[in-house]
Amino acid sequence: MNFEARYEVVVTGGGIAGVAAALQAARSGKKTVLVEKTVLLGGLATTGLVYIYLPLCDGNGHQVTFGICEELIRLSLKYGPGEIPASWKTGSDLTEVKRYRCIFSPAAFMLALDEVLEEAGVDIWLDSLVCGVEKDAENHLTGIIIENKSGRGMIHGSRFIDASGDCEVARRGGAPCSASENFLSVWALQYHKDAAALSPGVGMYVGGCSAGGDPLDAETIARRGLSESDLKIEPGISGRKVTDFVLNGRRLLREHYRRAHEERGFDRNNLYALKLPAMAQFRKVYCIDGAYILQPGENQKCFEDSIGMVGDWRKAGPVWEIPYRTLYPKDGPLGLLAAGRCTSACGDAWEITRVIPTAAMTGQVAGLAAAMSLDAGVDPSGLDVQNLRRELRNLGFKLHLPEAGLEYA
Ligand SMILES: Cc1cc2nc3c(=O)[nH]c(=O)nc-3n(C[C@H](O)[C@H](O)[C@H](O)COP(=O)(O)OP(=O)(O)OC[C@H]3O[C@@H](n4cnc5c(N)ncnc54)[C@H](O)[C@@H]3O)c2cc1C
Repeated sequence: MNFEARYEVVVTGGGIAGVAAALQAARSGKKTVLVEKTVLLGGLATTGLVYIYLPLCDGNGHQVTFGICEELIRLSLKYGPGEIPASWKTGSDLTEVKRYRCIFSPAAFMLALDEVLEEAGVDIWLDSLVCGVEKDAENHLTGIIIENKSGRGMIHGSRFIDASGDCEVARRGGAPCSASENFLSVWALQYHKDAAALSPGVGMYVGGCSAGGDPLDAETIARRGLSESDLKIEPGISGRKVTDFVLNGRRLLREHYRRAHEERGFDRNNLYALKLPAMAQFRKVYCIDGAYILQPGENQKCFEDSIGMVGDWRKAGPVWEIPYRTLYPKDGPLGLLAAGRCTSACGDAWEITRVIPTAAMTGQVAGLAAAMSLDAGVDPSGLDVQNLRRELRNLGFKLHLPEAGLEYA
């Protein structure tokens, strides 16, 4: 090893889940490090150009998600344009004006994320790739191995939060994980001559360019230089798969602009790609097999160990309580918590846990559970969940549907 360092809480991945986890662990008084392989914070939400902060409400005027999730939605607008529509309180549909959500500038959000983490005293390590873990004989995680410009180093810690988006730490640590299939799609920021009209209040860019999410006929697939297997990506991941996914996405984009210029009356001066995603835009890759796996259809259901609630970003009505048991693996390693896309869910339930508000919420809870389990001298899996829930309520969380004026099924 070329270098080493020691922290109490070690967070892998500076996406929304990792940011929330590190913020909470540091605010709980723990010496905290956030390790990120790129030089930018926010993960898919910013470097991945996913700039829609999905709703904190149920679509019927009830806010269900609180805490750092709410702090971050406001920070996403601190240095950039956009508004949270006041009309979400009277809403009852999916449109932007009727839900507690917003569109933000990825760059502006990144500036605010650096600032809030530094204010909280989080030690940020950028351009540092987590590439291994260390465990002791009793299956406790004791360190992560990182590579950066200083060479290869060891970061020792007592609690580890996997917010890598694809269970990098959990898998290397031997935790059982589940994989999901994906489909080829790509979002990019683009200049469009009618940007201001198409995106009022934001103006400087027009949404993303999505190409390939819809079913394509065989002729179109061939014209884009792709095959069926390029569009539907089998579960699991490899270095080759990431590269193919990214290159095929860019192939779709080239085709998108070619067609827009040749067939839809645009030219390269009034419609063009402004920024490409710097992360592979897989939606779901790996999540841990937790002590509990959240199942499809488990909305409007009471969990005794609920650590917060999230709405369904696709439709008004469904609200999910998230059990604490989805944040730690059912069979070790010890000392590990998962956050964001890495928390335990399957099928349609993973659609709910993989998005920005849930990432912020589970990240904050993982940060708090890491700190509290350290103080209590127990593994996160042995933490008294009622104490954790009490602290969450002190932080402004509502944990069960009736607290938000909602009923169980
Ligand atoms: C095409 C697409 C559209 C989407 N649309 C929306 C939307 O409109 N709204 C919404 O709310 N959500 C949307 N999502 C989902 C959402 O953006 C993400 O799932 C969410 O932001 C995940 O946050 P996260 O923190 O769990 O993970 P990530 O954002 O994946 O963050 C993981 C971080 O870990 C870092 N990392 C990974 N491996 C390592 C390593 N080995 N060492 C160090 N660092 C590492 C990564 O660089 C990254 O910064 C979309 C996703 C996709 C793909």
